[in-house]
This record gives sequence, structure tokens and C-alpha cells, in this order.
Amino acid sequence: MDDDKRKILIVEDEQSIAELERDYLELSGFTVTITNDGDIGLEKALNEEFDLIILDLMLPGKDGFEVCKEVRSVKDIPIIIVSAKKDDIDKIRGLGLGADDYMTKPFSASELVARVKAHLARYERLIGNGKEGNDLIEIRGLKIDPSARRVWVGNEEKTFTTKEFDLLYFLASHPNHVYTKSELFKEIWKMDSVGDIATVTVHIKKIREKIEMDSAKPQYIETIWGVGYRFKV
Ligand code: CA
Repeated sequence: MDDDKRKILIVEDEQSIAELERDYLELSGFTVTITNDGDIGLEKALNEEFDLIILDLMLPGKDGFEVCKEVRSVKDIPIIIVSAKKDDIDKIRGLGLGADDYMTKPFSASELVARVKAHLARYERLIGNGKEGNDLIEIRGLKIDPSARRVWVGNEEKTFTTKEFDLLYFLASHPNHVYTKSELFKEIWKMDSVGDIATVTVHIKKIREKIEMDSAKPQYIETIWGVGYRFKV
């Protein structure tokens, strides 16, 4: 990362929430712009330079669904959707809007900051500054080196099969994003999900045995019951 401050756009019509988010992000060294309206938010997102957008769904003007879709059609920057309703998460996933993450209100501001940092780091790895080792992932003692395809837990190196590694790296490079088993199967096994998605379950189990202190209480790969898995940051 260079020294320029990362710029975050908050599109949120509840002023108190917007200000809370802004205060925490500014404390973490980000530059924050708030807008309370979907139309203005979209215009800013498209015409100004931001590194990440935090987007509410129910807004005056265009709603968050529409803003997300239109921004995503031209920009790849991370978008974190913040919603008051749990049901919206299914809707977001169903619509395939291309949001990177979603949080349900109320949430902790420090968790929001952690996710903002994780998504910015991932995005910066993706757009690649081309530097060697830039894509190394390190989270709470777990270290993944994708160029060497090696994994360490603490100081101990663990051996992974090709697919175990691909699955772990895919999840870890999309922190907090929930994937269904069939999405993971498609992504890692490159086939239509008509195949046996139980393969995913088996691989997750093997990965957990290698990286988790206690497989029954996973700290990294979390099971979202009835949906799939996510890599927690
Ligand atoms: Ca709202």
C-alpha cells in the first residue's frame, strides 16, 4: 500500500449510522464521503475515485440494489452492502449483483472496519501491483502463499492436496463472502454442479483438520447452516 489515504464512499440515509461508520473508518486512517441519497451516491460512485463503497439498501432515490448493479457494471471496486433485513441477503445473492460482502444492521463498527480492510487488501492483490509475494495471505497465524502453493499454521507447514489448496485459497481470498457448496464445486472443480457437491464437504473437513485448533469450533472456515461456507476475518 502506498501512503495515500484510501477513499470510502458511504451511501446511507440514516445519518447516525453513516456518522458512526465514518468515525470508525476515519480513526483507521480512511478518507470518508457520506451521501444520504441513492441517485447522488450512484453519481459519485461513477464519477469520483473511491476505493470501496459501503451501501445501504433502502435509500431515497435509487435503492441500493440498483446502485450496486450500476456501479458493478463499470467498476470492480469492493462493495459492502449494509441492510436492515436479514431476508435481503438472500435477495442480494439471488440477484447476483456482484456485492463483495453484506452485513445486517445492527453490526459492530469495528467488524465493519475489519471487513473494509480485508476487502481492500484483496482488491489490491487482485489488481496486482505485480510485486513478488504481494498476494500472500496472513490471518491470525494462518499463512497462505499462492505462488509457492504453501500453507503454514503458526510456524508449522501443512501439506495440502491441489484441490484442498485451491479451495482454501479461494475462500481466504474472498473473506466473509458466503458460498454455497455448488458454487464452490463449480469454482474449484470447474464443472457444472451436477457433480457430487459432497466432495466439497469432504475437502472442507480435511482443510479444517489441518488449519483449525478445534475442527468442531472452526475459527477460519465457518459453516453457514443451510447455505454454505465462509472464510471469517
Ligand atoms: Ca436506509
